[in-house]
Amino acid sequence: MGPPVFLDVDNTLLDNDAAKSELETRIASAVGPNEAQRFWELYEIVRRDEQYVDFPATLERLRRESATSAARIADIVDTLPFARYIYPGALEMIERLWQSYTPAILSDGDSVFQPMKIERAGLAAAVHGNVFVFVHKEQHLDEVTAKLPGRPVFVDDKRPILGRIERLLPDAVTVHVLQGSYGQRSVDSGDPPPDVEIARIADLDTALARL
Ligand SMILES: [Mg+2]
Repeated sequence: MGPPVFLDVDNTLLDNDAAKSELETRIASAVGPNEAQRFWELYEIVRRDEQYVDFPATLERLRRESATSAARIADIVDTLPFARYIYPGALEMIERLWQSYTPAILSDGDSVFQPMKIERAGLAAAVHGNVFVFVHKEQHLDEVTAKLPGRPVFVDDKRPILGRIERLLPDAVTVHVLQGSYGQRSVDSGDPPPDVEIARIADLDTALARL
């Protein structure tokens, strides 16, 4: 078994900006602009309170105000075709990784919606069920590296997350994917820089082979 490659999901393997935009369009047309606006207000409130996106908790809060809208939105969230938002070449790249590595998903998120999204996007199958979802993944590095031994690789679109991983596991390989709304080279964050930068997730295996 090759060393693990821990892959982030949102804006690393899956274009979450596009998925969220489609979700916004579908929700607005299903419940109208006012209810949709209320849903996204609650989404931001929950995200601020819990420090991560939590659709089940957001829907629970909306349910107390409007059970009909909450049910409609829950249906839209549950049926969004997530596989459509996988970045081009990402699944093929994971398949190639298996030749030398053990690919795994390591994602932040809630324990209900996020695993469902990973499953429905076809990502759980691509990593043969090596799926780890936590509210704050940096707090579980010992746990995941114990499960999948070898010098780990961590891949993420958020540079601060990679900086924290570099501090906690100096021997790990960190890869920054410059995709999506967070995928920029940050200026002077004070964090250790990532070991590798790539423009597209499809290039990951090629970049790792050059190390
Ligand atoms: Mg991400």
